[in-house]
Amino acid sequence: MTEKSLLSGRVALVTGASRGIGRATALALSEAGAHVILVARNVDGLEEVDDQIKRTGGEATLVPLDLKDFDGLDRMGASIFERWGKLDAVVGNAGVLGLLTPIAHLQPEVWWDELIAVNVTANLRLIRSCDPLLKRSDGGRAVFVSSGAAQKNTPYWGGYAASKAALESLVLSYARECADTNVRVNLFNPGATRTKMRAQAMPGEDPMSLPAPEDIAPQIVELLLPTCTINGERITAAR
Ligand code: NDP
Repeated sequence: MTEKSLLSGRVALVTGASRGIGRATALALSEAGAHVILVARNVDGLEEVDDQIKRTGGEATLVPLDLKDFDGLDRMGASIFERWGKLDAVVGNAGVLGLLTPIAHLQPEVWWDELIAVNVTANLRLIRSCDPLLKRSDGGRAVFVSSGAAQKNTPYWGGYAASKAALESLVLSYARECADTNVRVNLFNPGATRTKMRAQAMPGEDPMSLPAPEDIAPQIVELLLPTCTINGERITAAR
């Protein structure tokens, strides 16, 4: 459990905060004292997370946004600048599975409009929008949630895997570009986790055989602490 004071006075943004790993990470960040900016499309989901944060004495700001609205990401960055002048932590967590299907059958619209748009371009635009804000923090931290699939070449997972491999390449380049700054950037592979996406990928699996998002989230928070100096690494969740 992260101590309440570790992130007090700090502002953290989480994409895909309406459920799953993003929701649990947002709650863990709030527990550690951060003001959390919650980004996702589902307003009911965001409000439910906000209610839980308020119940524990924390504070959140809700940003209902489709991450495919790339200009919306720019507007969000401008609003954060106006309100706080900086951003201390970013979690690029939102992702889509697309379809598990042979590469030869992967429809172009699933590839471009889902996998590439959400898993790659939205994170690139998030970096573009948040980089100046992270650099205004005395210890900006960013974590992008990837997948072991990125490096496995598993049959039928190729679309998702390629999008995560592209994300990894962008993020690791960005991390190296940040080496001489106060910003630290890493990739995090949660491993199989009990969420809607995992159930979509593995419908026959017993979800209770998997760790819950709450078991994983504190490991993401660790990478967002100002004391964390790791940069440009692929971190796999400990089980
Ligand atoms: P979920 O499907 O449970 O959650 C996905 C989140 O992403 C939701 O909050 C959803 O919010 C958000 N999201 C999806 N598309 C958009 C969009 N267009 N605009 C805004 N938000 C969007 O997935 P997980 O929690 O399992 O996944 C989180 C991350 O972890 C992903 O990047 C995934 O690839 C990765 N991962 C997960 C694993 C697992 O076993 N669960 C294993 C390895 C990696 P909303 O629908 O409200 O917009």
